[in-house]
Formats: sequence, C-alpha cells, structure tokens
Amino acid sequence: MCGIVAGIAQRNVVPILLEGLRRLEYRGYDSAGLAVIESSVIKRKREVGKVSSLEALIKEEPISGNIGIAHTRWATHGKPSTANAHPHMSGLKVAVVHNGIIENYAQLKELQLERGYEFTSQTDTEVIVHGIYEELKTENSFISAVLKATNKLEGAYALAIICQQHCDTLVVCRKGSPLVIGVGIGEYFVASDVAAILPVTQRFIFLEDGDIAEIKLDAVKIIDAKGNCVTREIKQTSLSLDAVDKGNYRHYMLKEIHEQPDAIARTIEGKIINGRVSEQALGHSASEIFDYIKSIQIIACGTSFHAGLVARYWFEGFAGVPCNVEIASEYRYRSPVLSKDTLIITISQSGETADTIAALGEARRLGAKYAITICNVLESSLGRASDLVIQTNAGPEIGVASTKAFVTQLTVLLLLVIVIGRRFKLPKNLEAKLSSELANLPAMVRNVLALDGEIKIMAEQFSEKHHALFLGRGAHYPIAMEGALKLKEISYIHAEAYPAGELKHGPLALVDSDMPVVTVAPNNSLLEKLKSNIQEVSARGGQLIVFMDEQLVPNDDVNLKIIKVPSVEDEVSAIIYAVPLQLLAYYVAVLKGTDVDQPRNFS
Ligand code: GLU
Repeated sequence: MCGIVAGIAQRNVVPILLEGLRRLEYRGYDSAGLAVIESSVIKRKREVGKVSSLEALIKEEPISGNIGIAHTRWATHGKPSTANAHPHMSGLKVAVVHNGIIENYAQLKELQLERGYEFTSQTDTEVIVHGIYEELKTENSFISAVLKATNKLEGAYALAIICQQHCDTLVVCRKGSPLVIGVGIGEYFVASDVAAILPVTQRFIFLEDGDIAEIKLDAVKIIDAKGNCVTREIKQTSLSLDAVDKGNYRHYMLKEIHEQPDAIARTIEGKIINGRVSEQALGHSASEIFDYIKSIQIIACGTSFHAGLVARYWFEGFAGVPCNVEIASEYRYRSPVLSKDTLIITISQSGETADTIAALGEARRLGAKYAITICNVLESSLGRASDLVIQTNAGPEIGVASTKAFVTQLTVLLLLVIVIGRRFKLPKNLEAKLSSELANLPAMVRNVLALDGEIKIMAEQFSEKHHALFLGRGAHYPIAMEGALKLKEISYIHAEAYPAGELKHGPLALVDSDMPVVTVAPNNSLLEKLKSNIQEVSARGGQLIVFMDEQLVPNDDVNLKIIKVPSVEDEVSAIIYAVPLQLLAYYVAVLKGTDVDQPRNFS
C-alpha cells in the first residue's frame, strides 16, 4: 500500500508534505510526487525512486503553495516511471493522488477516450481525475463533482484532490483504503497513516469508509456513504514522535525486534489480574461473545496468518476448541460454509488489510454473528467492523517485515485461548500455567534476544546461499513458515518451510551441501521424531542450523550447527523460537546488503 499526504495551511505545505512522505516511505516507494497550487496554477513534481530523489528535484526546481497533495507509489497498474507516478492531472486543472485499485478502470477509460480525454500514464488512477474533470464541467461545487465521479468507481481507494478553480479547498475521500485528517491550528493535514503527520498534529479525525470531506482553512465538511452530512469526533492520539524514530539502531527492524519484550508487556498489561486472565479486561462484550460461540474461524494474511496457524494448535490442543485458519484472499472467493456460532477472528497489524476486511464482510454475509479483530490500531477499518477489538499495543511498526506485531498477535491469541478455553476443555491447572507463562513472556523474550551476537555470526553461513529450508513440527511448523517468510522477504533468499515429517515426501531431494536447513527444536514430545528428520538431512550432506533447547545434548555431527536457546515451557515456546529466526533473517539481509526496512517489490 502506498502513502498519501496532503494539506491546506497558511504556510507553505511543501516541506510538511515531503516530511510526511519520508515517514510513509516504508509503505511503498517505487516513485513519489507532489502537487501544489502556486499563484493559482497547479505545479507538479514527480520522480522515480525514493523520496530523497523527489526532494532533490524540488530543491533544484522549487515549488511552494498553501495547498497540496503528495504520494509515494507502489505500482499496481503500469511500471514505476515518472509518467505513472502520482499526482495525476486532467487538463492541468485537477490533480489527484490515489491509494488503491480501480477495478472498472478499463470500461471508464474506454468511455473517456471516446470523449476525447488524453491518457499519459498506464495507471488505473487517471480515470479518476478525468472523471472529476468531466463532472466539474456541470457542477459548481468541488465536493459534488468528486462525489459524482467516485460514484462511478468500483474498487478500493483513498484520494486527495486539488483543483485550480477551487484553490481554497482540498477534497479527500476513502473507500476500502485508510485516510485520516489531522487537525492543526488554522490548518489541516491529511494522511493515509497518522505517523506521517505526527510532527504537525496529534489530533485526528478518522474518516469512516465511504466518507468524503471538503476541507477549507476554517472548516471541514464530511458527507458519509449515504450522502448525509455528518460530524466525526476529533481524537487525540497517544502515539508519540519518538515511537517512530530509529534511535541508535541501524534499522527499524532491529529496533522493533528488540522492542518485543516491552511490546508484549504492554499487550498483557492490565489483563492478568491475580494470576488469572480477566475477560472483562478484553472488552465489555467479551463474555457475551465467548458464551455464544462454538468454534473459531481465523482469517488473516502473511505473517498474521502464521500467527493464526500457531493459535490453531493451541485452541484445539490445549482447550478442544474447534479452530480453522484461512488466508483472507482465498476465503472471500471460495464460498466457505459457516455457522452463525462460529467466531470470526481477523488478525492484521494495521487493521487495514484489504483482503481481510473483504473476507470479514463475506463472513458476515454468511451469517457470522460475532467477529473479533486482533490489530495494532483501535480505530482501524477492521476494528470498526468487529464486535470486539483486542489491540496488540506493539507501537508503530516501520520495518516492512513484521516482527513485534507477530509476537504480540501470538500473545493476544494465547489470552483468547485461555478465556475461550475455559468454556471448553481447558484444564484448570493448564489455565493457571498458561497465565503465569504469559506473565513471564517479556522476560523470556529478553533472554532469547541475548542470542543476537551468536546469530549474527551464524548468518555468515548464508551469504553465498540462494535457497534454504526451514523445518518445524507442531506449533513450530508455522514458526518455521514465518522464519522462511522473513528470510525471503528481506534477504531475497528463496526459502521454504516444511513440517519436518513431510521431508521424506519430496523435499529431501533438494538437500545437498548448498542447501542450509534451519530447524526449530524445542524440548517437547516431538523431539525424537525431529531428531530422525535431522538425521535424514545430515545423511545427505545437508548443512543443518538447529535452534535447540539448551538442555538438550547435541550430537557431534559435523553438519550440525547448534544455537542453544534458553529453556522455556513448551506451551509458549512457539513465541520464543520466532525471535531467533527474525534475527537470523535480519543479519543475513544486512550481510547481503539489501534494503532491510524497505525490501523491493513490497508494500
Ligand atoms: N493503482 C495505483 C497505481 O498503480 C495506485 C497504487 C498505489 O496505491 O500506490 O498507480
């Protein structure tokens, strides 16, 4: 997902928009652009590459204005190029930045071509700006013209628009993509993420899906999806500016990995009272929901999906709660069967994952009575569409590769296993054990972070490698999947994860001395089976890197490199073993010299 920043003020907005883009860069960055109204004329600058390139261009060819829009693009339609970079313009009179996808752009384009509009890009965005231009021919009001034009759009979008005829007005809208309005003193800024405009304000209006807003220096008018004029509350955010600084760390990702003990502590804060997880602390509707449901359907994408897969082992294994886990982008298209007493749990770092939002809509359509979301942003779209939001309190995650969001999602899931499990078959003594392990999690994660230096050295084994296998068993299989995902997304080494028992059904054929095999070996009932799998790899000359409980005695196999992980209770070991795999991916990426916080081809 790309980034949008816009503003209207009595001062020059260009430096604020550029700073906002820099702060959003982690979300999409193949090109960037900015447009302002300068002396009643729209001036635009666009550049391929990072925001710093756009900044350099503007330094050379300065522009300024009191009203402007800006964008970092992550290409969906048309390659990254200056012509495809936003803002897009129509007749040099209207300029638009767009986050999202217009699904019916081809039909609209055909009509607009017949009307004589000229297209200068391959994006789906250009139909929006021509559509608004067309409506402005007959509409005196800017917002009405945008409303009419957007009514013809299908798909997901957040838009910020300026128009030469209405140079005192900024119009913005959102449908399926996030957008917030930052309220300053006599000025307004708009962004796709609050982090972008924290330096200028901490007061925000969170637009609802379908809202369109007309912003002037002295007022904001909002029209909702039904066409009614509405007032939206101004909320003060608790996010601070330092939360999005890198501190002394070389990369955000490393900082975020090391923030995990605190993030977990914040997530469980106030939820364990006298050694017992309080369900009231999860929200006032929690008990009503848990009393009603008979099974669970978890829906998520990417790393959050892996968190869901771990939770399935817990829900079913600890508490006998039937649990399914599904990738959101599949769920919405496969006609699933659902009963109304199945609890939907969506998981998403931002709460704005489009596929997950759509899948939740589908689950509701199929009759799901209750939905919970686990996300980092209370006011997010998923939050608003759910009956209960359980916030992860991880703080802003700037590195694209999710780390602290993952472990805090697992923490919340374990809280849910306890409170829901009580109504199923979770034994009392296991409940007490899980609750105390939860309380100890921050300390356990802090211990495992001490492996940082050792893992850094181990990472050198990967510098010449092109492929890697990750193995795990039980709840550690999804942890191996997450480890493989981290490695491939930031180091570009092709990595696959397998449940260790599957090796003999095919992947063993890949094993040779060029194929490092990373194995997660906690001290649990599956260990003996895992040891046999390790033998299978070693016998084929495969180089094994085993993250092993420190109490286990490794054999002296030359192909075996062991990293001893501090002993932890088996129930929570999946959370603990996720951490060294994050560090491994991080250090391999650093050694390979990739852009760790902003990997290529990524949103
Ligand atoms: N679909 C638009 C494009 O390809 C917007 C992409 C984005 O969200 O950055 O230009």
